[in-house]
Amino acid sequence: MRNKTWLGLLLIIGFLSVILIPLMLPSSSNSSQPKAINGVLDLREWDFNQDGPVTLNGEWAFYYDAFYSLKDMHFDSSLQPKFITLPSSRDTFKSDLVKDDYFYGTYHLTVLLPPDDTIYGLSTDIYMSSYRLFIDDKLQTEVGKVGVDASTSEPYYKQTQTYFKPIASQAEIIYQASDFHFGDRAIKSPLLGHADQISDASKFKLSRDLLLFGILFIMGVYHIGLFIKRNKDRTPLYFGIFCLAFAFRMLLVGERFLPTLFDLNFKSFARFTYIAVYLGFSSLCAFLYSSFKSLISPASVSISLGISFVYTLLALLLPFTWLDRLLGLYMVVGFSTLFYMLYRLIIGYYRRVPFTGAVLVGFICLIMVFINDYLYEVTLKNMPSMIPFGLTFFVFLQAYMLSAKSAYAFSQSEMLSIENSEILLELKEMNSRLESEVEKRTADLEKRSEDLETALMEVELLSNTDYLTGLPNRRHMLSQIEKAVVSDAGIHIAVADIDHFKLINDTFGHDVGDQVLIELSKLIADFLGERGIIGRWGGEEFLILLYETDTQNALLLSNQLIELVTSKVFSPVETKVSLTIGMSQYDKKSTIDDCIHSADTALYSGKQAGRCRVVTS
Ligand code: GH3
Ligand code: MG
Ligand code: MG
Repeated sequence: MRNKTWLGLLLIIGFLSVILIPLMLPSSSNSSQPKAINGVLDLREWDFNQDGPVTLNGEWAFYYDAFYSLKDMHFDSSLQPKFITLPSSRDTFKSDLVKDDYFYGTYHLTVLLPPDDTIYGLSTDIYMSSYRLFIDDKLQTEVGKVGVDASTSEPYYKQTQTYFKPIASQAEIIYQASDFHFGDRAIKSPLLGHADQISDASKFKLSRDLLLFGILFIMGVYHIGLFIKRNKDRTPLYFGIFCLAFAFRMLLVGERFLPTLFDLNFKSFARFTYIAVYLGFSSLCAFLYSSFKSLISPASVSISLGISFVYTLLALLLPFTWLDRLLGLYMVVGFSTLFYMLYRLIIGYYRRVPFTGAVLVGFICLIMVFINDYLYEVTLKNMPSMIPFGLTFFVFLQAYMLSAKSAYAFSQSEMLSIENSEILLELKEMNSRLESEVEKRTADLEKRSEDLETALMEVELLSNTDYLTGLPNRRHMLSQIEKAVVSDAGIHIAVADIDHFKLINDTFGHDVGDQVLIELSKLIADFLGERGIIGRWGGEEFLILLYETDTQNALLLSNQLIELVTSKVFSPVETKVSLTIGMSQYDKKSTIDDCIHSADTALYSGKQAGRCRVVTS
């Protein structure tokens, strides 16, 4: 990822260099340009078409605390000028020429031009804080209000272009200028060239301002838009404000697009410019803090926000001449904060905090142009300021950093969402596995409970059934009799015993005996059907419950039973067996046991009487 970052950075740096370097080159920076000597600049040999416009550097004639016209100079021979060297600043303007920082005066330069009919243009940038320009004693323009003290003069900054046709290949250029507000003796050398060269240069600078404004403006709006759409992270907001503050400043300074458009007075202009810087600086600090919270202490941001807030208030409330003087403290705090942040960013870079590289490169570039401009005292009146370019460069790198950051975050979230859907899939699979497991277990349980029920039923059946014959056993028979006597008293109970069964066992074996018992049981049960129940009472004895209440009928039924048995040939032995039956009718007054006992007694009598018969009690 680091390699890709550096590739991106190199592309941006290359791209910006191609665009910005031609824009930064001064329109005329020819060091071999002639310089004025003793108030005269000889350009007779200068080929404007080939060598471009000329910056009017060198010695200008200067008359202290006086406004003179060309006529005055020509007719009053007692007027002796001093000479000052342009461009001028507090350091280069010899202090023995003036008594005070605040003064007015007349500046005069005679320019000798090649002999042709060309129309010339003169471009003026800063000429003290207000000036009147005369060419050949003709007033060309006035910027601000020229006066002899603070009350009669008014400062203003404005780039002017003036066009003229020289008389006799010579131009007498006179500036009557005053400064009762800044006292910095700042004069930039005016630029002289062919009319089209001067107007082209001005248009070029204006287009450059607007281009840079456009870049900063779009960046600003874009990032504020990003913040509105996702306000969790404030980094794009601070960055957007930073871009917009400096975009606004771009239209204030340079070619002064806005002040010219709205004819803004100097005081408002100055206040706006200061406020744009305070806003830009504080949002820069907030941006860096928000980008690298782990690196930068919140206190440093609070200090820069606090001082910017106070200075913004001062810029709105204080007389504007004070603002320049107060700027020193702001610069100290501002530069200290910037250096602190630079130091922290370098540490971050060595700690390999992501994205510090790109921010660091842009930030160093920004600080360098700030220092450069501050050293050249162009804080408010920045003319050939490097700030716009440094700023644009910085903004490009930060925008790159922000977009790289969000692209990184985006791919992270894409990865997470892929992971999430994988996890979801796994969960779904697990869930369906769990569901089928639960279903299986439930089915198992159901089956087990069914099995258990069947087993219970079997156990119950077994507990009620005789193991050999499958007939109801003694226990079950008793409960059936109990049930029968409740609903229908008068039923008959018979005890039946196979005659000489021992003989069968002895003759054919016990197994055959068993088989006879089984067949006989089935025979009687089938015969009885709904009319009664037969159960095994023990050994070769059976208990028969007859639902018949009439004794004659019961007797008939019992005899039919004996007939049935005796007529049957039992298959394993091919022999016949007979039964003796003792029968008794249940009487409510006695117990079931009594009834059975009576039947048993009757049976005994039947045996005694010769077997194979029914005896009733
Ligand atoms: P009686 O006519 O006097 O009833 O003569 P009996 O031989 O039938 O009577 P006894 O009481 O002397 O003998 C009963 C025999 O029945 C004795 C026993 O071996 C046989 N027996 C009892 N239960 C079973 C059984 O479950 N299977 C077989 N094979 N024989 C049994
Ligand atoms: Mg017996
Ligand atoms: Mg018997």
